Amino acid sequence: MRALPVLLALATLAPLPLGAHARHRLPARAEGAPRVHRVEKLADHVYCIFGQGGNIGLVVTARHAVLIDDQFERLVPGLLAAVRSVTDKPIKYLINTHAHPDHVGGNPALEKLVTAIVAHTNVLKRMETEQAKLEPAKRGGLPELALGSEDPAEKARLDIHLDGTEIHLVHAGPGHTDGDVMVGIPSARVLHMGDLFFNGILPFIDTESGGSFEGLLAQVAWVASWIPGDTRIIPGHGPVCGKKELLRYRDLLLAVQAHAKAHPGLDPKALAAGFDTTAWPDWKPMPTFVTWETLFAAASGKGPGRVKAA
Ligand SMILES: [Zn+2]
Repeated sequence: MRALPVLLALATLAPLPLGAHARHRLPARAEGAPRVHRVEKLADHVYCIFGQGGNIGLVVTARHAVLIDDQFERLVPGLLAAVRSVTDKPIKYLINTHAHPDHVGGNPALEKLVTAIVAHTNVLKRMETEQAKLEPAKRGGLPELALGSEDPAEKARLDIHLDGTEIHLVHAGPGHTDGDVMVGIPSARVLHMGDLFFNGILPFIDTESGGSFEGLLAQVAWVASWIPGDTRIIPGHGPVCGKKELLRYRDLLLAVQAHAKAHPGLDPKALAAGFDTTAWPDWKPMPTFVTWETLFAAASGKGPGRVKAA
């Protein structure tokens, strides 16, 4: 861990006006807001909100709330209703685990409610690039506080100290993309891994956005090596789980890596055909998105980690 990015990031946090959130109480529930969200309590003051898109984390401190990811803009009214079913405290920070639209799509609608949006530098870069293609009126919701550098290999960490609750953001290298952060709440024994972890679904490794199979495996193995046995893990997709499922996921990735390395001459299709998928019945492909073949494409560096549109 390099000290400089942490100090810079903390210095950026310090001047935020305390109490600036007070005028941003959650709005009244919008009529007709879709009820697609389900809230699961994971620990005192920490929740997972399921909807459509990436899983959302919610941390409630003494005076504030913190959201981790926000799915899609059209679902924000329902998301806010789900938050309000747990707390009416103002949302101080919105953390983005990475730049994919099913995790940051609600940013433009939420930015006026929060004090700041926090993400890795490469999330800001990618969102700026995407938004440059939009009408100016449709832009917005960019992270204001960024951790890490444009070099995804450079590790970075940011600790938020909010009303006595610590929230740790860690970027540990390229993985699902080049701008992933994991978010830990140590006092609650909860870790949100973003899309570094697909639980029960074959993982998407977005090599076209700087993702790396080797990097993802290294991070999963690293987390599995130190998290306490009673940690609750919020995966980017799939049900909340524990260390046991993370170890199983690590072993799946290790098996895929070993098979690809043992057969360097095979293309991804042949690698998938020769792999004993029956040993992993708990990991399902999504035929139009991620398959065993696309996973081996990512693992062998022979193609993108997802099914490409014809
Ligand atoms: Zn993603």
